[in-house]
Amino acid sequence: MTIERNPTRSVQIGSIAIGQNHPIAVQSMTATHTSNIDATVEQVQALTAAGADVVRIAVDSKKDAEALAEIRRQTSVNLSVDLQENYRLAAVVASSVDKIRYNPGHLYHHERQKPWQEKVCFLAEVARDEGCAIRVGVNCGSVDPAQKQKFGEHDSIGPMLASAWEHCDLLDAVGFLNYCVSLKDSDPLKVIDVNRAFSEKRPDVPLHLGVTEAGIPPDGVIKTRVAFEQLISRGIGDTIRVSLTVPNDRKGEEITAGREILKDISNGRVRSVVNFNTEGLNIISCPSCSRVENEAFVQLAEDVKAMTEYAKQHSVTIAVMGCRVNGPGETDDADLGLWCGPKYVNLKKGPVELGRYGYDIILQQLKVELDAVIASKEHK
Ligand code: SF4
Repeated sequence: MTIERNPTRSVQIGSIAIGQNHPIAVQSMTATHTSNIDATVEQVQALTAAGADVVRIAVDSKKDAEALAEIRRQTSVNLSVDLQENYRLAAVVASSVDKIRYNPGHLYHHERQKPWQEKVCFLAEVARDEGCAIRVGVNCGSVDPAQKQKFGEHDSIGPMLASAWEHCDLLDAVGFLNYCVSLKDSDPLKVIDVNRAFSEKRPDVPLHLGVTEAGIPPDGVIKTRVAFEQLISRGIGDTIRVSLTVPNDRKGEEITAGREILKDISNGRVRSVVNFNTEGLNIISCPSCSRVENEAFVQLAEDVKAMTEYAKQHSVTIAVMGCRVNGPGETDDADLGLWCGPKYVNLKKGPVELGRYGYDIILQQLKVELDAVIASKEHK
């Protein structure tokens, strides 16, 4: 089956190109601590062996940045750096990577007095000097607050689109065109809507597709498949990542799952309407990365799924996140959210903090809150 792809521009990421009818590239991300060079190199090599075209590595500190230079020396796959608040670290790491990912929503936290435009110009200059691509990575849980203010409380897609479009406009204006965009949400249906809307206005910009916090396989793969089938079959998407909550030694499954989905779509094995069960219990969990502070997180995500089995017909969303960087923000939209610290798990009901509990008692507490949420929904 031939799928007519959107006429996107070609974007060079090290030895590969995406967009403009190049094959759709498959990516993953390391979940080891970046400063642990041996463990991270081992994971990059495992992902390379699984067939990754690009491997992303998070950098939060100078120590991580230094480690990345050594990781580069010991590996050969195309590398992307994932920047958090400290966008200036781009200058330290750019010579070690092929691509720089920044999140427009995170540019505000560091050097608050400086306009975001100046920060983007800095990133574009660094990327241009070092021959890197850029990904403007917009995420539902950390949208630019200035854009969020302009839209209604329940419009999650509007601010994401406005943010992505204004960053594209600026990169275009400064003549930096070697960039792609991602618009990720944990809800596959929103991922479909937001990417379709983006590409209607900007069919020229290559898109990196992903469902964030898709969760544990097989559900995580199914959620992602729903979004990818609907988008790629319409010609949208130039590179993909399947985000799964799996232990470190199984990260290669993200690549295998991505390749399988692509193969099925190109063979016409697209379920015309994939009816993802948006009515029942929806457990989302992040794919874990180097920011996880307690490895018990992956087991906790599985235990939450098993414990909540009894509630599967109830329309409740539970989010389980691995760290304090994105956990607090990305659990706001869930009915119940858990985000993991080194010793405690923080429990939330929507945006409201309920308290923090030891890993050994959090499930009991979650059950109490889940029963209360179910009861309150039933009485509405
Ligand atoms: S929530 Fe935290 S641990 Fe999980 S993927 Fe995002 S940054 Fe990494």
